[in-house]
Amino acid sequence: MRKFDYIIVGSGLAGLYAAYKASLKGSVAIITKSFVRESNSFNAQGGIAAVTSHDDNPQIHKSDTLIAGRGLCEESAVDILVNEGPDRIEEIIADGMKFDTENGALALGLEGGHHKRRILHAGGDSTGKWITEFVISKVSEKENITLYENTTLLDLLIADNTCYGIRCWSENPALEEDKDERQDGNEVLIYADHVFLTSGGTSAIYARTTNPQTTIGDGLAIAYKAGCRIIDTEFIQFHPSGLYLNDSPKAFLISEAVRGEGAHLMGKNGKRFMVPIHELAELAPRDIVARSIYKQMQKDGMPYVTLSLKHLNKEEILNRFPGISAKCKEFGYDLTESIPVAPAAHYTVGGVASNLNGKTDINHLYVCGEIAATGIMGANRLASNSLIECLVFAHRAVEDSVKSGAHTQIPEFEKEYYMDRSNKDFYVELKEKVSAIMNAHAGIVRSEEGLKEGLKKIEELATALVMQRKVAGNVPVKEFYEDASWRLLIVASLIMNPALLRKESRGGHYREDYPCTDESFEVHSVQQIGKEITTAPVNDNYLNF
Ligand SMILES: Cc1cc2nc3c(=O)[nH]c(=O)nc-3n(C[C@H](O)[C@H](O)[C@H](O)COP(=O)(O)OP(=O)(O)OC[C@H]3O[C@@H](n4cnc5c(N)ncnc54)[C@H](O)[C@@H]3O)c2cc1C
Repeated sequence: MRKFDYIIVGSGLAGLYAAYKASLKGSVAIITKSFVRESNSFNAQGGIAAVTSHDDNPQIHKSDTLIAGRGLCEESAVDILVNEGPDRIEEIIADGMKFDTENGALALGLEGGHHKRRILHAGGDSTGKWITEFVISKVSEKENITLYENTTLLDLLIADNTCYGIRCWSENPALEEDKDERQDGNEVLIYADHVFLTSGGTSAIYARTTNPQTTIGDGLAIAYKAGCRIIDTEFIQFHPSGLYLNDSPKAFLISEAVRGEGAHLMGKNGKRFMVPIHELAELAPRDIVARSIYKQMQKDGMPYVTLSLKHLNKEEILNRFPGISAKCKEFGYDLTESIPVAPAAHYTVGGVASNLNGKTDINHLYVCGEIAATGIMGANRLASNSLIECLVFAHRAVEDSVKSGAHTQIPEFEKEYYMDRSNKDFYVELKEKVSAIMNAHAGIVRSEEGLKEGLKKIEELATALVMQRKVAGNVPVKEFYEDASWRLLIVASLIMNPALLRKESRGGHYREDYPCTDESFEVHSVQQIGKEITTAPVNDNYLNF
């Protein structure tokens, strides 16, 4: 039996930091679908929000977070974020993390929805890369952490509402000996006292996204199937400014920090359209900017609007955004002039219900990072609050796991005989169809008619995907890609079902048939397998378990 004290699923900031912290308590296995650096975290640009300057304080950070969250934030979680964030920053700086400085002090950026400069950044616009590399360096110093790349979570090993480990599909030679000779598949079981799901969000289920293709909500679907409550998944943050590249689905992100430094959004007529819409103009909360861009694109009959930096100091822009300007150049654009941008699916606001210590509805199963619904983000994430959430809640979850203790006994689980990848073409085709449905029916502007149509199409795809258990050598087997296809359909439904029921507009959920916010919907949506969708009051007790 391959057993560790901790299994961490995912190698983004939440996973890596949890692994580092957990290694101070016991042995750790990190499994990650692709390579260790393939994550949203690695791609993060703008920075990490925490109060570090004298003219700022946690109360202002809290107030900005609550405003962005549009009435759905859990205040107890936000309090923890804004008060413990500075401690985690101090800790990683003391450990050797280098943030950008200016005249010997931390250089602080400004982003949408923040009323103070509090965004720490590194490498100019490569904060995610720098912070992830920093934690990877810490993780690789630890002999009790084993990293398994190319290893995908398939399922959780659960008995009596307790998690004992994971079932995964591994192409990592280090796990070769755990595979079964009777099958030509790559199924491996790994056991642990504590399992951390840190597998990120769902945004790559959309056709136009800033996320890598690994971010399709596997953890969400698997936690749902296992019985965890799923909270507020109708709220998807569309980033206002993905570089527009001739109909390409991949949207390279133009960080909000670029607008923070003074870039202007212009319509076809060369005029700034955000000024009459919001007092913070281009720095209004993301949902407002994204929707305004969408409307401007419709008005102009264009697939993008223009982000102009012509009026700013060229040298300063190139120094502040070396990565973004180099990438723009690669695509034939000059960041110091103007570039075409359009919104793209970016961040999953809701997720798996988590208490203030990352605990889920299943014993010994924790969630941290983008997959977790701690209640911090409410209906809409405040820019740069997610990297700091990864640090704060991964730390808390590891501390809490010590209280949960080790398993006294571990039941033995059978393999399910997953087979080879023969259905890959089917999966790729299905993924394209699901992504198109999500963009068309559950995108930046939604309606009852559109969502019903989208759900109908997902149901039709589900009917077409009748998973038949095959038999090989007298053993019933499952197909790896059939399973992956199911997960996509589950995630699509988890986003669209509550979106249909939420007959209002709020944060990352905008209904053109219900364009106003309705107080009676100031509640969380709650989905749990085998039950009707329900709601839970804000600041009450969905976190209180
Ligand atoms: C382009 C971009 C820029 C951003 N900029 C900022 C910013 O400046 N500031 C900020 O605060 N936030 C930013 N964000 C958001 C932020 O990066 C993410 O919310 C955060 O990094 C999430 O971290 P995570 O560890 O939870 O997940 P991720 O970093 O997404 O990591 C998830 C990991 O899980 C793995 N995984 C997924 N499924 C499986 C599976 N089935 N089995 C095994 N492994 C699996 C993935 O491969 C990945 O390694 C940005 C996001 C993007 C996409």
